[in-house]
Amino acid sequence: MVSPAVRFALGAVSLLATFAAPIFASTGSPFYGDAPDQNHPWAVHDQNRPQPPVVTPGTFSSADQPGKPPSDAVVLFDGTAESLGNWASDKNEGAPTQWIARDGAMECVPKSGYVRSKQLIGDCQLHVEWAAPVKAQGDSQGRGNSGIFLMGIYEIQVLDNYNNPTYADGFACAAYGSSPPLANALRPPGEFQVIDIVFRRPVYRDGKVVDPGYVTVFCNGVLMQDHTQIEGPTGHKTRAVAGPFPDKGPLKLQDHGNPVRYRNIWYRELPVRAVEGGTDGPLSVEATAAKRAAIAAGIRADAAKMDGKTTAAMLRLAESLVYEQDAATLEQVKTWQTQYVAGLTALSADGLKAQEGEVKTVFRAFQYLVKFKIIPADSAPQQELAQLVKSRGWDK
Ligand code: MG
Repeated sequence: MVSPAVRFALGAVSLLATFAAPIFASTGSPFYGDAPDQNHPWAVHDQNRPQPPVVTPGTFSSADQPGKPPSDAVVLFDGTAESLGNWASDKNEGAPTQWIARDGAMECVPKSGYVRSKQLIGDCQLHVEWAAPVKAQGDSQGRGNSGIFLMGIYEIQVLDNYNNPTYADGFACAAYGSSPPLANALRPPGEFQVIDIVFRRPVYRDGKVVDPGYVTVFCNGVLMQDHTQIEGPTGHKTRAVAGPFPDKGPLKLQDHGNPVRYRNIWYRELPVRAVEGGTDGPLSVEATAAKRAAIAAGIRADAAKMDGKTTAAMLRLAESLVYEQDAATLEQVKTWQTQYVAGLTALSADGLKAQEGEVKTVFRAFQYLVKFKIIPADSAPQQELAQLVKSRGWDK
């Protein structure tokens, strides 16, 4: 009859045969950088942290040609009359817009009113290109005026300021009435201006602000708004008043009486912020604990699917302790570690030598757990393992 310890060791041997070193590459081992803490659910350089989604990039626009949106963009206008169907009249609710599509652009028809997207949009990366009428007429706010209204209530100004001064907080790419742009990087009228916006709406909870919201704007690749705090919905002559925003709203383009043209309009939805339950950015202690528990549960479920008492299953279970302490799991890990060490001591010198790589890996993993006080340094199996490793000089 083969003892459990030897069976365990045999399991380890067969595992080694299956997975030539390194056997842990696929397990997302966190036994590397500093461990998770109160505000970081993942270890430093944690392989369990989800990979960024793959996005196929688009192409940049030139004066003649609109660029191609990235693969995950929601396209609101692509130059076709068909895509004008993504928009509706704002004045006559539900009615088709009277703006027209021609020469690859959608053009404001003065007095027809704002146009609004049928799609409701919240936090986003927004791309818009606009061109002022070729014959520059009027001055100050009267020349080539339109506007990009985020969620229908926050205007990033559209204005032909090419050789046309106006009040600073009403310039092209101003957060209208609130924050002037950092520069005037406009091309002449008739040429398309390429506008890129990162919009994070204000977030309130129980009437209190948890994130005031920010907007970042580029015009033709030049920074206009640098993470500008949102003061509230924009207005003419009125001071913005802070307050809750809806979660989503239509994108509106302004009819200010000038036939401004737009092309290549698309957006990408942004991931949920930490204050709303997302996992990027500074996390609260409670949110971190909840996330760590969820990661640990996933790893334990994974370990439970593994084939019995193998080295990989033991390490996977031990790995879960990095994220969340759990008495039953700790006991199981200790039991398996005891059996693992017993299995090693039952091996011949040659048999043990053949497992040098794996033993070192297991030792390093448990040393990691000791270093971050996840398991005690003085447990019997830990001391035995340390002694075995040191006696062979494998700790060097
Ligand atoms: Mg305007």
